[in-house]
Amino acid sequence: MLVQEQITFHNLDQWLKLPWDGFTVQYHEIGLKGGNRKAFTKALQRNLQKALIRFNVKVQDLFDRLFVTVASDKFFDALLSASKVFGVAYVSPVRVLPRSIDAMVDAAVQTYHALALDKESFAVRVRRVDKSFPISSQELERLIGQRVVNEMGAPVNLSDPSILISFRIYQDCIYQVGPKIQGLGGLPVGVTGKVLALISGGIDSPVAAWLMMKRGCVVDFIHFHAFPSNEEAASGKIPKLVRTIVEPQGLSVRLFLIPYHPFQLALLMSKVPQRLELVLFRRFMVNVANKVAIENGYKAIVTGDNLNQVASQTLDNLIILDETSQMPIFRPLLAFDKQEIVALARCIGTYELSIQPYKDCCSLIARHPETKAKLDEVLRAEKLLPIEQLVERSLAEMTVLKINDQEP
Ligand code: ATP
Ligand code: MG
Repeated sequence: MLVQEQITFHNLDQWLKLPWDGFTVQYHEIGLKGGNRKAFTKALQRNLQKALIRFNVKVQDLFDRLFVTVASDKFFDALLSASKVFGVAYVSPVRVLPRSIDAMVDAAVQTYHALALDKESFAVRVRRVDKSFPISSQELERLIGQRVVNEMGAPVNLSDPSILISFRIYQDCIYQVGPKIQGLGGLPVGVTGKVLALISGGIDSPVAAWLMMKRGCVVDFIHFHAFPSNEEAASGKIPKLVRTIVEPQGLSVRLFLIPYHPFQLALLMSKVPQRLELVLFRRFMVNVANKVAIENGYKAIVTGDNLNQVASQTLDNLIILDETSQMPIFRPLLAFDKQEIVALARCIGTYELSIQPYKDCCSLIARHPETKAKLDEVLRAEKLLPIEQLVERSLAEMTVLKINDQEP
């Protein structure tokens, strides 16, 4: 699932007033085999702890689930924030009860009493995780349900109840489990590897970086700016975009800022055909990103390229970019429609920032770029520029920002 579903529970406000003790975090079991599992849960536990730090939480690993207790009074905010951490399939509030039938009956009656405005229908569901509990789930459902009917006069509806009262029986306790809130899925950041994302002020590249994070990659960022100084770029919108992407994951990342002017100056003084300027600049960005990646241990480069979306992103042009890279270039948005990217950008929260005006380097370059660049022609044009020197000069002028740094 790419975007979260709207949360629509019957009488959610009332649900939230129940005396919850914490919430469980469930993850998809598929793909979690053998050694993977420990790394996955460890990373998820660590990421949740960081992402929820302001709610003063404790995250425990209880083997088949994580259990989170919240010391602050912002229980629901913590629950929602947890649902946005990559790797989370869903979260549910939980009340911990002693292992007794009476405790379940009391909780069920209390829940129905708190939630039913009128005589809404209800159902009870019980799951025995611990099968040694002496009474079957079905029998328990019937027994508890009967008491709610007797005490509250509530109508039962097993197939589509307005109020669903759920219990899960474990070896040492019983959980009353509240509504399920769907998470984003994916993998916890950190289980996959380190990549470097080329980010611009546009709509696409922040979404591309987010998708790589969702697959468990640690993503750092590199941006070429057209400001007179790195300080001015640092107060522009790029750091805000990066922050929007990484903050929900509780991550601190690096943003490499590189001035465009050395390349711009060289271009002005050269005889490069105008229609090749954009493709040359994009190759240049890949070259610089390669150097930064090799020096800092990134295994791949990520871009927001999208096949045929703009003149510079034809198949031929993308292949010409790959030709200059010593490492893979990942393009998670290659086959997306623009509407799909926009929907994702809205869900992530980057869209409003992305559409704010920004002087991007690419907009300073020729308006009618070559759409079917030929490699030999590009290589000939590239020889008109002192590429190696320009790469060195750009790296010498680079600054690194820490974004969302939580260290004191
Ligand atoms: P976006 O919305 O991501 O800017 P776009 O459709 O505008 O994409 P281009 O401007 O051609 O496309 O850029 C293609 C990709 O090149 C971007 O997605 C981004 O990864 C990278 N890129 C473009 N400009 C910059 C920049 N100034 N600094 C770093 N990377 C950039
Ligand atoms: Mg762009």
